[in-house]
Amino acid sequence: MDITNPHPALPSVATPSVLPEGASTVGLSAWADVDLGAIRDNVAELARRAGDAAVMAVIKGDAYGHGLVPVAGAAIAGGATHLGVAQLGEALAARAAGVSAPILTWIFPPGADLAAAIHADLTLSAGAPWALAEIAAAARATGTTARVHIKVDTGLGRGGAWHDDLAGMLVDAARLEAEGVVDVEGIFSHFAYADSPDHPTVRAQQETFLAIVADAERAGLRPRIRHIANSAATLTNPSAHLDMVRPGVSVYGLSPVPHIGGPTHFGLREAMRVTARLIAVKDCPAGQGVSYGHLYTTKGDTRLGLVPLGYADGIPRHATGVGPMQVHGTRYTVAGRVCMDQIVLDLGPDSPAQAGDEVILIGRESQGEPTAQDWAAAIDTINYEIVTRLGPRVPRRYLEGS
Ligand SMILES: *Cc1c(COP(=O)(O)O)cnc(C)c1O
Repeated sequence: MDITNPHPALPSVATPSVLPEGASTVGLSAWADVDLGAIRDNVAELARRAGDAAVMAVIKGDAYGHGLVPVAGAAIAGGATHLGVAQLGEALAARAAGVSAPILTWIFPPGADLAAAIHADLTLSAGAPWALAEIAAAARATGTTARVHIKVDTGLGRGGAWHDDLAGMLVDAARLEAEGVVDVEGIFSHFAYADSPDHPTVRAQQETFLAIVADAERAGLRPRIRHIANSAATLTNPSAHLDMVRPGVSVYGLSPVPHIGGPTHFGLREAMRVTARLIAVKDCPAGQGVSYGHLYTTKGDTRLGLVPLGYADGIPRHATGVGPMQVHGTRYTVAGRVCMDQIVLDLGPDSPAQAGDEVILIGRESQGEPTAQDWAAAIDTINYEIVTRLGPRVPRRYLEGS
């Protein structure tokens, strides 16, 4: 097998600029505070709930928009023993930044630089026969045993091996392990309906998973880390904890099951706070159309506030007319179209707001502020998407907590 890669390992992850802790925010259009103490405490709470199971904190997607490297440190401080990312490049970026904990990566295409991954001591997911073959070739080429977690599809209908592919892979993996080419440390799967704990597929996937683990053992494998629980299963389904849980969104203090309870209900707190500064407040007569297409018209004489964030920053354009914000303790809804760089608020005739005043876009449920969940509910998506899409134009400021 040809494992030469025309694109030597790409560890690049686009990261926003970072403000020093305690830096002034005067002169900034907007910024996101990320409370690393909250992340640490959330991971500690998840570890407590997981009991004897280890915790792999999932930090893909630049840690759901919170910042790969700072979050890795906070998660480890909270008791995570493993880290999980989607793309190989994310795992290489974490290693290049000095993150030394075990890191599992489950997305790389044929021809990826797996020799670099093995040199970086990453744990590689094998979710298809070609992946196991390329991992084995890279292990042979580097003369180093590759640490592997076999990924199985137990009914999600997405990533992971199943049916004949899986049966063949278990046999091949056992042979490669006997040769010292791979160490099958783990085996894992992912739920389709973990956010509906009573859905019949949840129980069925768990039973299928344990049956596959038994098949793996019959093939001669002894995977030491069996894992299937994302945040929702970690919080609602202890029978799925097995040897390790793999939470993502709950690490950031967001509920994966808002219909069951918010962060406070689960002993979590939101880590991200997004604040902007009004760049203009102006008097406006009744009957004025506002923003592109005049989708909103002022009802009386009022004051308009201009918020310097837009869809270039990850504010969903679908939040037109529905996105929630707070100024001086009062809730507003986006007036008219969300533009690329700007949003308008109708502050009402009596608002004391002035240019430079703060606008809270994402805050904490416990303080009655608009939340990522509120934005998600307003546009019929999930809180995951709201925080993850926050763009690199918004600088991050890390609060270490105590
Ligand atoms: C994203 C992801 C997770 C984390 O899911 P959450 O719902 O955010 O807890 C776990 N495992 C896999 C395979 C994932 O892709």
